[in-house]
Amino acid sequence: MTAKKTYVTVFLTVLVIWLSLALLVTAQEQQSGPQATLQESGAGQHQELGQLRPQGTGAGQGPGQGPGLRQGQGLRQGQGPAAGPNFFDFLLRPKFITMLVIAAVALVLLLTKRMNSRLKILILAVSTFLYGISANLGLKVFSGFSMHPSPICAATKSILYGFRMPMIVTLAVIIFLTLVGPKLFCSYVCPVGAIQELIAMLADKLKIRRRKPSFRLSQTVRVLIFIAFIFLSWTAIIHTVSGNRTVALSLYDYINAFHGYEISLQPTLLDNLFHFLPFILTLFFAFFTYRPFCYFVCPIGLITNVIEQIGIFRVVKKKDACTDCLSCAAKSPCPAVAEILKDAVLVPDCFACTVCTGGCNQDLLKFGIKSN
Ligand code: SF4
Ligand code: SF4
Repeated sequence: MTAKKTYVTVFLTVLVIWLSLALLVTAQEQQSGPQATLQESGAGQHQELGQLRPQGTGAGQGPGQGPGLRQGQGLRQGQGPAAGPNFFDFLLRPKFITMLVIAAVALVLLLTKRMNSRLKILILAVSTFLYGISANLGLKVFSGFSMHPSPICAATKSILYGFRMPMIVTLAVIIFLTLVGPKLFCSYVCPVGAIQELIAMLADKLKIRRRKPSFRLSQTVRVLIFIAFIFLSWTAIIHTVSGNRTVALSLYDYINAFHGYEISLQPTLLDNLFHFLPFILTLFFAFFTYRPFCYFVCPIGLITNVIEQIGIFRVVKKKDACTDCLSCAAKSPCPAVAEILKDAVLVPDCFACTVCTGGCNQDLLKFGIKSN
């Protein structure tokens, strides 16, 4: 078996385990009766994800309120299930509608070769503001833009708490935009991705030389973190079942850069460290390597990397005309271009930065539909 086949097999196995666990917990949650409805809330309020089980006691800490083991907060027995919003109620909220609009605008600009630095900065700044910063302002006009669940929470908390509607809608939007491509959620909508992209542009302006780590290295780290997360979550679920109380452990709580957008003081110094450090480190390393959090850590990056292989729109080259001068690959910040030129089956993440499409001296790379 080639290394590539081994990688695909391992990855798909992990993905299937993730899905099975999430579905298992979802089924268990449904059987256990009362469920709290996840409500969108302002920055710093994750507790809605912690209030999921009737057996728990005391004030449970919700995901995001500092990492570690948490007890779910109990709902009173006999309380009927809350009739929560359905899929379309969530989808039609300003947050998701604007996400789809921003992605559509970006796609049109990419396909028509009109995406330039100014428009790119504008779109990335809007996404950073809307989906990262605005909820901190406490303004009513931005009340529908809470980041929660963050993309990472949507993918990982479903294992611990089962699929909930906000998670399902978040994942559906991410998957849809990735299927349309080129990785449209990560490239132009995600606030953590957007700020890294803006820093990459700034680093170029400042002529800071960035390193390009091999995809094999970043992907190995990203997959290992994901496997460790699944293993730890599984032990937490076993503990939950045997101990008859919700105990949730998400490894990503320790390394989730999205928490950095919740600008609120945490109870202890250690909590503050875990809360803000991943974001600060992400910003710092983004000056020296392209999208470090996306390539090395983010589980959404991992999942969308698989989906983008079948995405409709992507970077394509005009066959036969390429002279293999590799000037585009040399200019690009990512490890994807060389694989795109080779027509590889598994291409590293492309964040539609437009460097390679603008970097071919003969204009042979463009955003379009792959012909075969
Ligand atoms: S890989 Fe993760 S952090 Fe990066 S853009 Fe995608 S969702 Fe955001
Ligand atoms: S250089 Fe090309 S392949 Fe790499 S992220 Fe940018 S657009 Fe995608």
